[in-house]
This record gives sequence, structure tokens and C-alpha cells, in this order.
Amino acid sequence: MINIFQPMLGWKELEAVKEVFASNWIGTGPKTEEFQKNFSEFIGVDREQVMMTNSCTEGMFQIIEFCKNKYKWHNTIPFEVIIPTIGFVGASNAVIGNGGTPVFCDVDERSLNVTVEYIKKHITHRTTAIMLIHYAGWTCDMKPIIDLCEEQGIILIEDNACSVASTYKGKATGTLGDYGAWSFDAMKTLVMGDGSIVYGKNPKDVEEISTQSYLGLLSDSGYSNTVDKKWWEYDISSPGRRSVVNDITSAIGLVQLERLNGFIHARKTRHELYDDMLKDVSWIKTPLPIVTSEDSKSSYYMYWIQLEDEQTRDELAMYLKKNDIYTTFRYYPLHLVPYYQSTEQLPNAERASRNTLCLPLHQGLDINEIQYVTDKIKDFK
Ligand SMILES: *Cc1c(COP(=O)(O)O)cnc(C)c1O
Repeated sequence: MINIFQPMLGWKELEAVKEVFASNWIGTGPKTEEFQKNFSEFIGVDREQVMMTNSCTEGMFQIIEFCKNKYKWHNTIPFEVIIPTIGFVGASNAVIGNGGTPVFCDVDERSLNVTVEYIKKHITHRTTAIMLIHYAGWTCDMKPIIDLCEEQGIILIEDNACSVASTYKGKATGTLGDYGAWSFDAMKTLVMGDGSIVYGKNPKDVEEISTQSYLGLLSDSGYSNTVDKKWWEYDISSPGRRSVVNDITSAIGLVQLERLNGFIHARKTRHELYDDMLKDVSWIKTPLPIVTSEDSKSSYYMYWIQLEDEQTRDELAMYLKKNDIYTTFRYYPLHLVPYYQSTEQLPNAERASRNTLCLPLHQGLDINEIQYVTDKIKDFK
């Protein structure tokens, strides 16, 4: 089976893990600190503006919980967070889990990214934040969205899971708003099993979220062995959780981060190859990335095509599966998830969810495999 996503891990990652074993400290420690430092450099922010946590979903829960307290969102009951419906379930769970209401909005039918117009339609006096994604790594047109947020005092949060290395006007996505969260889970470009970086514009916020993710422990109390007596006594600032990352995970991440630019380059090449091989197939629309700024870069996280209708899309998916090619559609519209009981009608997203299919794309995908996939697509009709 040709996988849709696949990590690229090797002996270097194994060596790094071996080193951690030998150190006799596998918990959160120097490797985790080093990853935070290196990643902050990679995205061009200060070390104090980032922290690691164990998943992007957890990061989004932490951000919403923190904001709820900091900005007194509980005075607005229920507070609303606007989320593009083509998005990740963890984002809306984070809002509901903190007593808020996710308000789903439509997206552009071709880029599957949200634009400021779709956001505007849903702004009410209860709107506290917007949490958006950059679909498949292609950046949203952020300038008007950032302006809107500033004008209206709305917090801007980026779910940056698709766009690990994307930039907008030369600046890393995830750092364009007030908060951002990355994912390094098993299906992402940079993988570490599970892991995430949380970004906050204000280092003080990051410090507080970081405390919250480590039991609420105050750092000058026990547990940190910097106190010289009665180190078993401690205090907490709040009833925090424990959602830290260990050094085994971070050691893998450090190697992956060194390889990241190479991964992105490999994905770009494969993306272009698909474009080229499918350009004469008249019944397929290939991705139409809307390049939103001169200095914007994609992370090439997914390659997707759009078909004439739902039946063709579904039959093509089945045909490819029979030929050992796995495809999928990301992300099924949140407003159609029964649990959320949304009554919204978002026609672009609904249409896209019926005609869009994501093809295998990862840095290890062989050129012959792309040839095979595109040949099979051509054979289908
Ligand atoms: C994978 C993904 C997430 C979740 O990341 P985890 O680290 O698994 O919690 C969030 N948002 C998007 C868009 C994703 O693709």
C-alpha cells in the first residue's frame, strides 16, 4: 500500500535516543530545552516565546484555558471562538472543553483556507478569538485577518499543525497572531511520536502556560533541586496538569528539526511532480494555492485534487485503494460532525468535502510511486 503520510526516521534518530538512554535521564530535561531553543531559532522568535507540550491538541486546550482566565472570557457566556469548518476536531474540542462555543465559518472552495470575509459574517459581541489553520501548509491571506483582529480586539490563534515551516511575508506562520500551536505527531512532517510547540507573543503568557502544563508547580519550590534544604516542600500557583514532553521524544525531534528543510524541499519536488503529471487531466482540478504574499512559503503538507462530483471522488478513492493507493479527505467539515449540533450551512466547505481527495504525499515517496499513482488516476476514466 502506498501510504498517504509516512514519517522519515533513521539511524540518526536512533543514535539520539541511545544517547538519552545512556544518560539515565529520560524525563523532560536538556534535550527538551535544546529543542525549544533550536525551534525558536528556526521560527525566528525568542526562546521565551515558545514551550513544548505533548500534543497540538493539548496546546490548544492550554491556550484557550489560559486566555479564558487572562481576558476574562467567562464574563461572556458562552464565549465564541470562530473556527474555519475545514479544521481539526481538537480545536473545537478545546473551545467546548473550556465552556465556549465554536462558531464554524466557511472557507474558499479552492484553497480551503479561510478569508476575512467568511470570518466577518460570524462576528458577534461574544466573539473572543479566531483559531485558524493554513490548509495543507498554504498560508491564509493574513493581513486583512490580522487587521480585523486588531480593530475588534479579537485574539488570533493559529493551529499551525499543517504549516510547520510555512511563512507569510517572510514571517513564520504560527507567530503571526497572539498564540500558535504546532504538531509533531506521527503523521506530520517533523515527527517525534507525539509533541508540540506552543507560541505566545508575550513571554509572560508562555511562562504561565508552561507552569500550568507542569502541575502548576512554582519553580522555586521543591522538585526543582535548586533548593538546598527541605526540597520536598513545594507550592503550586494553580491546579495544573502534567503535559510535558520527555527527552526521548525531544531527542528524536532535534534530529528531525535538522532534517526539516530537506523534508520540505523533498515535498515541494513531489508536489510539483504531481502538478506536472496531472496537468493534462482535464477532469481534475489540482490544488490552486492562493499565494497570499510575495514572501510566502508552503510546507507542502498535503496534495489534493478536486473532482467534478461526489460520486467520481468516491469511486476514484475506491479504485485507488483497490490498487494499493491510500487516499483520504482532510478535514471533514466540523459543522457536519453530529456531536457539535451545528445548524450552520457552509456551502463552499460542503462542496469541497464532497469533491476533494488528498493523494499520498510525504518526503519518502518514490518518484515511481508518483508515476504509478498518476497513471492509475488516468486509467480510472
Ligand atoms: C494533526 C493536527 C492537529 C493535532 O495535532 P496533535 O499533536 O495530534 O494533537 C491539529 N490540527 C491540525 C490541522 C492537524 O493536522
